Amino acid sequence: MVTTIRVTVWNEFRHERHMTEVANIYPEGIHATIAAALRKEEQIEVRTATLDEPEHGLTEDVLQNTDVLIWWGHSAHGEVADVIVDRLQQRVLGGMGLIALHSGHLSKIFTRLMGTSCDLKWRVGNDHERLWVVAPGHPIVERIGQYIELEHEEMYGEHFDIPQPDTLVLVSWFSGGEIFRSGCCYTRGQGKIFYFRPGHETFPTYHHPQVQRVIANAVRWAAPTYRTPLIYGNTAPLEK
Ligand code: ZN
Repeated sequence: MVTTIRVTVWNEFRHERHMTEVANIYPEGIHATIAAALRKEEQIEVRTATLDEPEHGLTEDVLQNTDVLIWWGHSAHGEVADVIVDRLQQRVLGGMGLIALHSGHLSKIFTRLMGTSCDLKWRVGNDHERLWVVAPGHPIVERIGQYIELEHEEMYGEHFDIPQPDTLVLVSWFSGGEIFRSGCCYTRGQGKIFYFRPGHETFPTYHHPQVQRVIANAVRWAAPTYRTPLIYGNTAPLEK
């Protein structure tokens, strides 16, 4: 049975309003670019939410009606209220998919779900990035080919302090010599989590068709599947 996947694209939405360089690339915000790409997909329904909305746009009602949440944050991780992070964590454990993009590696929700520092090396310079598919056949890299080439991107380098991914889908090479685990799959509770590295705000990365393809594929992968309600606690034997 194919049903519609309800996606919420969340963005901090500060750089686009305060930096001309970023506004020129994403005039309506990074969330709007990602949402527009997803709206071209079949059976995906998209809404957006941003940090400065009441409850950061992530009310109980919005989250109860979100199958997959996409997260872009960078300079204001600390401004995300803990009560909202608690709510997000409960929803992920209950089955909502989460796609953390780029600097979302240091977001409160991602570090809480990982349980590690999620720290890494970085450099905004003149790096060229090549993301190699290391799990061919995985649904997240369907129709991607061998690699994605990004002419200009920020460098993120190992060591990346994350738990060992359940599946590592993409590994980046940078022209400065570094490598990085760029596409990482996890499950926490009933929720599926995908970390996807590229997307520094001063580069047009989210306009790249293959980057958009990975995000759309990840939405389908992370969407919850039907499960029989789980039963815990003291249990009578099935056999007499
Ligand atoms: Zn960045």
